[in-house]
This record gives sequence, C-alpha cells and structure tokens, in this order.
Amino acid sequence: MAAPARKILILGGTGEARVLAGLLAEAKGLKTVTSLAGRTAAPELPPGEWRRGGFGGANGLAVYLEREAIGLVADVTHPFAATMSRNAAEACRRTGTAYVRLERPAWRPERGDRWQEVENIAQAAAAISSGARAFLTIGRKDIAAFFARTDTNILARMIEPPEAALPPHVAIFLARPPFTVEGEEVLLKERGITVLVCKNSGGDATNAKLAAARRLGLPVIMIERPEKPAAPSAATPEGLRDLILRLP
Ligand code: NAP
Repeated sequence: MAAPARKILILGGTGEARVLAGLLAEAKGLKTVTSLAGRTAAPELPPGEWRRGGFGGANGLAVYLEREAIGLVADVTHPFAATMSRNAAEACRRTGTAYVRLERPAWRPERGDRWQEVENIAQAAAAISSGARAFLTIGRKDIAAFFARTDTNILARMIEPPEAALPPHVAIFLARPPFTVEGEEVLLKERGITVLVCKNSGGDATNAKLAAARRLGLPVIMIERPEKPAAPSAATPEGLRDLILRLP
C-alpha cells in the first residue's frame, strides 16, 4: 500500500497564501495546512486546514515539520517577514524538507515618480523633512520608529491599531486593501499630505497610492525589502502551484 501523501505547510499572512491553498485543494491528494502568525484578531481564513501562532524559532519549526509529517514548506509570507523565512529555510535544511517560496515582484519607479529609496524603517523615519505631513502605510509593528519625529505630522493607515499609545503628532486610521487610485488621490489631497512613506511590498492590492502620489507629484520614501534565503520560487500562486506539482 502506498504511504499517505505528506502535508504541505503554507506559511501565510498574505492574500497569495489563501489563493495557493485554494489552488492546491483543487489538486488531487494534496493536503495543506496554512500557518498564520496570529497578529490579526480577525484574519481572513484560507481553504483547507489552518493553525495560528509562532513555532518557537527554527528549532520549534523543525520539531513541528517532523511531528506533522510535512513534506514541503511553501513560504508565502509577506516580503518583509524576513525572520519567518530565515527560520523556515533553516528548519527545512535541518529536516531535509523541500522549501519553495512565492517571490512577489517588487515595485519599480515609473516615469514621474519621485522616490527616495531607504534600507529600513529607521532610515525612513530620518528621511522625512522637518514640518512635513507624512502618510505612512507601513503596518502597525514599526510605527514607534516615528514617535521621536515630533517636528513632523504623521498619518498612518493600518489594518488593526498598534498596542502602543500614540504621541500627539501621530494619528492613525484603520482600513483594509484593496484601494483605488482615485480614492488614494482624494485622501492625499484632503489630508494635506506632503510625503508618502511605504514598504516596497509589490503587488496590486496596495499600489494605487503610488499612482496617486505620481499624479500629485508627491515624493515617496520607499523602504527596500530585506533579503530572504535563496529558494526555488515563483512570482504568482499559480506559478508556485505548478512548481510544487512538478516536484517529485
Ligand atoms: P517576521 O518578523 O518574519 O516573524 C516574526 C515571528 O513571527 C517569527 O519568528 C514567527 O515566530 C512568527 N511568524 C511570522 N509569520 C508566521 C506565520 N506565517 N506562521 C506562524 N508564525 C509566524 O514576521 P512579521 O513581519 O511580523 O509578519 C507576521 C505575519 O504577518 C507574517 O505571516 C506575514 O506574512 C504577515 N504580514 C507581514 C507584513 C509586514 O510588513 N511585515 C505585512 C503583511 C502581512 P516563531 O519564531 O515563534 O516561529
């Protein structure tokens, strides 16, 4: 009798992870479990099995992979979730588990864009001119890096509020993508924004703000991606499904 098919662990927290779980569910005999970090109180849930919460570093993940008989890890985390990707590559190396990744293409500046590219959040916070009114779309985790810039006005959009209390020069509002170019343009104009600060997340769900900034001639402070471990990868969930199906 053939051994039962081993499960695929999808490291999620992105829209593409949900799409991949759906695509693999359609492929006969493939069972998936999607892992969510557990940061969002009401996450959008994927098809198939799911779990939430950290594994306890590379060691904890290696134990999980063996205990749950995981045959392959598909890393579909956000381009800025570098720790999870590093741990996953390391745990897979130690346990001999296949590791593949979705590599969402980065945004590139287009004609009319006024980007200043910076390496990390601290550099982004330092790059805002004194007196500027900045619109931040960096999520809630790193907002504290802007608390010392009391010489600026900060408006930040995020999905859920941060835990830290906000200083008077920082205001937030909650919203979930996707957004339209027209909506972003109205927002930037009505709020009197003079600079946009964002991560180079790539993808279509949140790129409308870049087109709106271009139309308005606004400067953008663009935070470059952290490096992720080398791995067989594809740019889309469909491409990653095909890559997975080609594996032995
Ligand atoms: P991170 O810095 O790379 O990871 C920090 C720790 O969170 C990891 O060491 C791991 O804990 C846990 N973790 C992260 N992703 C996990 C997952 N999918 N399943 C189980 N545990 C996970 O990650 P992050 O930047 O905080 O992002 C957290 C989650 O939000 C990720 O799933 C990511 O895809 C999603 N997300 C991130 C961003 C962003 O800008 N960073 C944007 C949108 C969505 P242990 O060491 O205990 O295993």
